[in-house]
Amino acid sequence: MATKKSTPAKPAKKADDKKKKNAWLKYSAAQLKAVDKLADEYKEFISKCKTERECVAEIVRQAKALGYKDLDSVKKVKTGDKLYSVNMGKAIALFVVGSEPLEKGMKLLGAHIDSPRIDIKQNPVYEDKELCLLDTHYYGGIKKYQWVTIPLAIHGVVCRKDGTTLNIVIGEDDKDPVIGISDLLIHLSQDQLKKDGAKVIEGEDLNILVGSIPLKDTEKDAVKANVLKLIKDKYGFEEEDFLSAELEVVPAGRARDFGLDRSMVYGYGQDDRICAFTSAKALFNITSVDRTAVCILVDKEEIGSVGATGMTSVFFENAVAELMDKRGEYSELKVRRALANSHMLSSDVSAAFDPNFPSVMEPKNAAYLGHGMSFNKFTGSRGKSGSNDANPEFIAKIRAILDKNDVSYQFCELGKVDQGGGGTIAYIMAKYNMEVIDSGVALHNMHAPWELSSKADIYEAERGYEVFLKEI
Ligand code: MN
Ligand code: MN
Repeated sequence: MATKKSTPAKPAKKADDKKKKNAWLKYSAAQLKAVDKLADEYKEFISKCKTERECVAEIVRQAKALGYKDLDSVKKVKTGDKLYSVNMGKAIALFVVGSEPLEKGMKLLGAHIDSPRIDIKQNPVYEDKELCLLDTHYYGGIKKYQWVTIPLAIHGVVCRKDGTTLNIVIGEDDKDPVIGISDLLIHLSQDQLKKDGAKVIEGEDLNILVGSIPLKDTEKDAVKANVLKLIKDKYGFEEEDFLSAELEVVPAGRARDFGLDRSMVYGYGQDDRICAFTSAKALFNITSVDRTAVCILVDKEEIGSVGATGMTSVFFENAVAELMDKRGEYSELKVRRALANSHMLSSDVSAAFDPNFPSVMEPKNAAYLGHGMSFNKFTGSRGKSGSNDANPEFIAKIRAILDKNDVSYQFCELGKVDQGGGGTIAYIMAKYNMEVIDSGVALHNMHAPWELSSKADIYEAERGYEVFLKEI
C-alpha cells in the first residue's frame, strides 16, 4: 500500500496560534478590567460559600434578584421564564426556558458544589488530658497531612428535635476564634517521618482541638463540660444535637489574589466551585434562548455522586418532567427525548502543569494556567476506565463555537496515563444518551486546603459557557 505524499505544512493561521497561547496576551485594557472584576466576584463567592448548602443559598439569592422563580411556586411555564428548583438545600437546577419545545433538548451546564473537607462525627466531643477535642471523618480525597496546623472553621447546620435548624459559621469573622488539628513537633518526628505519606497523619488522628478551660466545680471531663456549656449558651444546641448535625470543617479565611502580578486566585473549595460559579454566572447572563438553557449544581461528586443530592439522583429528571408538565408538554417519551437531545458541558477542575512535579504530566496533553478553558475528551483512569469519552462530532461543534468567539481553550488529560486519574459527573449524564464533554478550569493543589487558579481561566470559562448556551 502506498503512503500518501506529505504536503509541506502550512504556517498556522493567526487565530489558531492565538488560542494556543497564554490568554493574558490577547487582553485589551478593558478586558483586563473585566478579568479582575469577575475574579473579585469569584473570590467573594468562594470566601462566603464553603459548603454545598451555602452555595445553593447564595445562588438562589442571586437568581431571585434576577427574577428567577421557584419552579414549585409557578403553575404555568412559558418561553423566557427563569426558574430554579432546589433539592434538599444541597443541589439546584436553574432554567431559562427556550422558545423550542423541551423535547428538542436542552443546553446544559453542570458542576458540583461539594468540596473535600473534614466532617464532624455524630458523637464527636471528648476530653483527653484536659483538652477538649472533636472526632472527625474526612470527606472526599484529601492528603491528610495537609490539613494539620492550619486555621480551620466550622460551617454547617444543626437540626434540633423541635424542627428548627441552626446555621453555624465559626472562624470566618476576624473576631471569631479558629480551631485546628495539631501536628507533631519536628524534634520528636523521627518515627513519623519514616512513615509513608498516606500514614504520616491518619484518618482517626484528625482530631480537632476546641478548648482547654475546665468548668469550675466539675469532677469529670471539666474541659468538655465547659465547651458544651459554651456551645449551649452561645450557639444554642446540646451535645445530643450533634446526632442530627451536618458540620463541615474547612480552611478558615478568605480567598485572595496570588502572585506578585495578582494573576491567580488562592482559595478553598475551588474544586468545583470555580466551575459552579462560572456556569451559574453564564446562565445569569442569558435572557432568551432557542432551546432551554440549564445550569445544574450538585452535591456528593467527591464521594461518587451518590445519594439524593448527588448527580445519580433522579432529582434533575424529575425537575425536567415538572417543567414539561407546567409547559403543557409532558409525556414520559418527551422527557426521554428532552434528555437524549441535550448537549452538555459537564464541568469540573483539571490539573494544571506544575513545574514542581513535571514527572506525572505529559506536557503535550497537560493543561496550563492561563491557557483558558480545559477540555477533557475523557477522564477515568488506567485505560479510560469509568470515563465518559466525548464524541468527536460534538467536540468539533464546540471548537467552532469557541474559535468564532475567540474563547481560549485547551485539550488536556489529568496526568500521565498510568499515574491514576479521576471521575466527574459526565458519565452519569451520558447515560441519558446526550452529548456531553468534561470541561472546566485547571488548578494547582487540587483537593489541598488552598487551591490555586488563574484569573484568565476563570474569565475564559465564563465566556465559554456563555457562548455554548447561546450557540450550541
Ligand atoms: Mn471536582
Ligand atoms: Mn475533586
